[in-house]
Amino acid sequence: MAKPLKSHYDVVVIGAGPGGLAAAISAKKTGADDVLMIDRDPELGGILLQCIHNGFGVETFKEDLPGPSYAQRFINEAQSVGIEYLLDAMVLDVTPGRKIYVSGARGGFRELQARAIVIAMGCRERTRAQIRIPGPRPAGVYTAGLAQRWVNVEGYMPGERFVILGSGDIGMIMARRLTFEGAKVERVLEVMPYLTGLSRNYVQCLMDFDIPLQLRHTVKRIIGNDRVEAVEAVQVDERWQSVPGTEEIIPCDTLLLSVGLIPENELSQKAGVVLDPVTNGPFVDDGFATNIPGVFAAGNVVHVYDLVDWVTQAGLTAGRRAAMFAKGSCNKKAVMVPTAAGRNVRYVVPHKLDPETLTQDAITLQMRVTQPMEEAVQVRITDGDTLIAKKRERYARPGEMVSLTLRGQEYDAVRNAKKLVVSVAPV
Ligand SMILES: Cc1cc2nc3c(=O)[nH]c(=O)nc-3n(C[C@H](O)[C@H](O)[C@H](O)COP(=O)(O)OP(=O)(O)OC[C@H]3O[C@@H](n4cnc5c(N)ncnc54)[C@H](O)[C@@H]3O)c2cc1C
Repeated sequence: MAKPLKSHYDVVVIGAGPGGLAAAISAKKTGADDVLMIDRDPELGGILLQCIHNGFGVETFKEDLPGPSYAQRFINEAQSVGIEYLLDAMVLDVTPGRKIYVSGARGGFRELQARAIVIAMGCRERTRAQIRIPGPRPAGVYTAGLAQRWVNVEGYMPGERFVILGSGDIGMIMARRLTFEGAKVERVLEVMPYLTGLSRNYVQCLMDFDIPLQLRHTVKRIIGNDRVEAVEAVQVDERWQSVPGTEEIIPCDTLLLSVGLIPENELSQKAGVVLDPVTNGPFVDDGFATNIPGVFAAGNVVHVYDLVDWVTQAGLTAGRRAAMFAKGSCNKKAVMVPTAAGRNVRYVVPHKLDPETLTQDAITLQMRVTQPMEEAVQVRITDGDTLIAKKRERYARPGEMVSLTLRGQEYDAVRNAKKLVVSVAPV
């Protein structure tokens, strides 16, 4: 039975997806006495509950699990270590002083005080409004994640004949799912000249089912008044302008949008957290501390990860540091070294790091490249002319996160560095 809520907690975690679950478990195991998770959904697990395909947990458990099974392992652990949780409850506001205002179906409106907070609100999908597709507004235009929920959780098919705009992972996964359910997926259109999701999803979800992918193509117009009847597809040039004469009418009854995810940071901003305009997530250090003392961030709220295992790792770190902050045992005198995106790199997370971390732990820098590089590349961390770490990869693509781990042996070089610049270039 749920315990009555207290008014003060050591650590409050907002969002109970894989990032929040990992953070809460790790905070508790690091010694935080009272840990509370809050989620607006009626169940723990976050978005994983609708991801019923496999592909989760290969790094964490060396097993290939469906999303709900992956989440359940952490739910079981959270319950066994005694973490409290409040479900069906929406956090409305967070202050820089770590007051939390929450409103829920059962408990009404409450004010809570936390010594440390982990924001783990995940991300949301970009919609038609954000990509400005002209034409009428018939039924039958949905985001891919919404369709995923309908098909996998509600048991409802949103259409029979689909076009998918965007080669993001959710769209490709839905192309396969809808095919399994007997629908016809006519095509996936991608405005960029390269795939924006994982190559493994392209192979397993499109190629294996003969679903065509057209790069440098978009939807010029939606046709239909009450319900989508067709879309007009068109090729685009390098400036995303339509190429005249390449228009094609594709009959369909549903258009799914898989055109990007946006970290959910409206609450973070209310708390005074400063966001990186490239990631749309907070500027964080290697412990996922934001600029507001005692406010940490975990999971897709920081930047959009492509593997849930990395979300879990980030959550474990954020939760541990939040517990240390709550207990007054974090390194308050840390002299941080900034990181920066160099050649061919769009962004790097974390944005700064405490070299002292390397005396106990490794620090993994994660980044996305600006352009696909289909030949062998070298990922390098440099400080001026000094090479600090490097790694070779077979290729680098914007849809696949690149990471490079710093270890104890790099401690001296990092401690003496002014700025750690990360670049990715052909070997
Ligand atoms: C629609 C969608 C579908 C996806 N499908 C896949 C997929 O098929 N495969 C895959 O690998 N990845 C998928 N992802 C990526 C997925 O987000 C990550 O793999 C992972 O779930 C991120 O974990 P998280 O804990 O950061 O966020 P989430 O799992 O999104 O958890 C965030 C939680 O925060 C809660 N929350 C947000 N705001 C508030 C608030 N104000 N108050 C209270 N609670 C709040 C939400 O209810 C949610 O439970 C999908 C993402 C989206 C958005």
